[in-house]
Amino acid sequence: MSQTLNPHHAIYVGSFDPPTLGHLDIVERGAAIYSKITVGIGINPDKRPLFSPEERQQMLQGLLTRFPNVEVKCFQGLAVNFVQECGGGVMLRGLRTLTDVEAEFTMSLANRTLAAEIETVFLMASEKYTHISSSLIKQIAQLGGDVAEEKLKDFVPRQVVGPLVEKFALKTSNQS
Ligand code: ADP
Repeated sequence: MSQTLNPHHAIYVGSFDPPTLGHLDIVERGAAIYSKITVGIGINPDKRPLFSPEERQQMLQGLLTRFPNVEVKCFQGLAVNFVQECGGGVMLRGLRTLTDVEAEFTMSLANRTLAAEIETVFLMASEKYTHISSSLIKQIAQLGGDVAEEKLKDFVPRQVVGPLVEKFALKTSNQS
């Protein structure tokens, strides 16, 4: 039985490990277009994330309180199933580069095969954030100390800088 999905409700899915300035820019743009945005944090049991799903949810909720039409949830399994469960008609994704376009294109075609009633919509973040990726952020945080802390401010919201530096300090002390 096909379900009626709300075309004004968009679900922005991703790992958000950690949430970055690029992610926030996409949420802000989405919140200005759609009446409701659900940020869906994907839990992949095969991956070892830096932050637990609960930590990511807490950080994102804190960062997004100024948007009354944005909620944050975690999900497991297929993103299209989560979008359907939320009742939204749109899956929101962000684009940075042409490499992103290629990967996202394949993914959205696969998602369309799984759930034809869901439209994937891509938003471009500001060019200021094009270079920001979670893997680069993790490399910088690994440097540790004041230098890393100062540099991270250009990549993640300031509320994420402290938890990031702490996480790597903890990892280093556990290894020694
Ligand atoms: P995933 O593992 O699903 O790609 P991410 O958390 O890395 O999860 O990204 C979630 C979405 O946000 C993806 O569509 C990704 O292309 C987009 N995104 C990530 N970083 C940026 C950025 N700096 N600017 C614009 N979009 C971004």
